[in-house]
Amino acid sequence: MKKEIEKLVLAKGFYNRPEDVPRKLLFAFIELGEASDAWKKGKSEEEIAEELIDVIFYVLDASRLACPSVNMDEMFLQKLRKNWKRSYQYGEGHRTKIR
Ligand SMILES: [Mg+2]
Repeated sequence: MKKEIEKLVLAKGFYNRPEDVPRKLLFAFIELGEASDAWKKGKSEEEIAEELIDVIFYVLDASRLACPSVNMDEMFLQKLRKNWKRSYQYGEGHRTKIR
């Protein structure tokens, strides 16, 4: 997907320097907001999914510039395996504090 995104970025003249990584991550946050807004407004699943895909696009685009040698598909599986090893409700200790 990084390669496909790179083709699109080059064809469309989008930001493409390592210095643009923070900007791309900011855009990912903006797309998260759009996804949240679409959900809040009761938009269709397809519209919400499209905004979530925008997030993934920006994250992968940022990864293309920030960690170009990393295979994100492999990293995804590696992280999934790591998370499977975590305890039940790992990192959600705050639940007992909320009453
Ligand atoms: Mg969008």
